[in-house]
Amino acid sequence: MERIYMDHNATTPVHPEVLATILPYYNEKFGNASSVHTFGREARADMEEAREKIADFIGAQPREIIFTSGGTESDNMAILGAVSKNVKKGKHIITSSIEHHAVLNTCKYLENKGHEVTYLNVDKYGVINLDQLRDSIKDDTVLITIMHANNENGTIEPIEEIVKIAAEKGVLVHSDAVQTLGKVPINLKELGVDLMTFSAHKIYGPKGIGILYIRRGTRIDPLIRGGHHERNLRGGTENVPAIVGFAKALEVANSDMDEEQSRLWKLTEKLKNGLLDQIDDLFINSHPENRVPGTMNISFDYLEGESIILSLDMKGVGVSTGSACTSGTLEPSHVLSALGLPIAAAQGAIRFSLGRSNTEEHVDYILQELPPIIKRLRDMSPLYADKMKNKSC
Ligand SMILES: *Cc1c(COP(=O)(O)O)cnc(C)c1O
Repeated sequence: MERIYMDHNATTPVHPEVLATILPYYNEKFGNASSVHTFGREARADMEEAREKIADFIGAQPREIIFTSGGTESDNMAILGAVSKNVKKGKHIITSSIEHHAVLNTCKYLENKGHEVTYLNVDKYGVINLDQLRDSIKDDTVLITIMHANNENGTIEPIEEIVKIAAEKGVLVHSDAVQTLGKVPINLKELGVDLMTFSAHKIYGPKGIGILYIRRGTRIDPLIRGGHHERNLRGGTENVPAIVGFAKALEVANSDMDEEQSRLWKLTEKLKNGLLDQIDDLFINSHPENRVPGTMNISFDYLEGESIILSLDMKGVGVSTGSACTSGTLEPSHVLSALGLPIAAAQGAIRFSLGRSNTEEHVDYILQELPPIIKRLRDMSPLYADKMKNKSC
């Protein structure tokens, strides 16, 4: 049985061209980019070339790019670094209720340390409310951190409007763009954010490499102290193989972004419409227009996401649930809860995240295999039995 991977928002395989680019840096070109001899200088030159390429792709300057160990570190560095640098100005942070845990748990940590955090509400697709944002800004607000696209449903936030509102009040803006890089064009000159987070492994690059974009003139404190690496902002021997791999992954993504994204858009629309045709009581949790093309989050009311995932896994399909189930408790994820779904629907959310390996045949296969799974599971569900009883009388 061919296995079908539809969980690209979790991670992606390294693209063959990326792998070929990386390998020589593990043995032939292994120099430490900080060494002064030729081994080191060659590694540094290749790293700086990668930095220039990446900067070029996202409309930034090379000196605005800091390499980190991934999206999680970049989120931590942006928030903790900006807050620490501005502690004299104030202690208030604004974020949304649907951020990635790298942002949310960093904000929770700061709350425990005496900072104040406002969590903005979202609509049924996960879009923040700009009026609420405007009203939440206070004299002591030092940072607004709102993600570019959500990892669970792909919905894209209005970052340019957020930046405009923040600029009126002189507040820094950070955005986690891990799910948009390589999927929608990113031009940092137009977006206008002060800080932005990126990661390579969601776009067919290696795991363990990320970027924090820091706009020229924006000052933050380092998170990891050490040698004079990355303009004294991030200590540690540079991960040159992963850095050149990141640049290559972005080059590959840019080479066919339009074609690949319109292909993925069509596949997710076909998936959505095909399921709507065959199955009742569905909720579409992804924005109809403003979303990254490969992501489609759908709730199957009266069911638990876990059981759908396991049934699909037995059919060779890898998808993920929106719910972060911890042992025994079936609590819906913070994202699905924030969308305001009935609890039984929030529990039955499935994230399909399609990518390069997926074909129309894969979607056809899901449209053939999933409806009988849903029917079988609902026939066993006491919640669904209750509903059908109430309907008939
Ligand atoms: C995957 C992901 C991260 C974490 O990135 P890592 O490189 O795995 O640490 C952060 N934010 C979002 C939105 C993500 O999807």
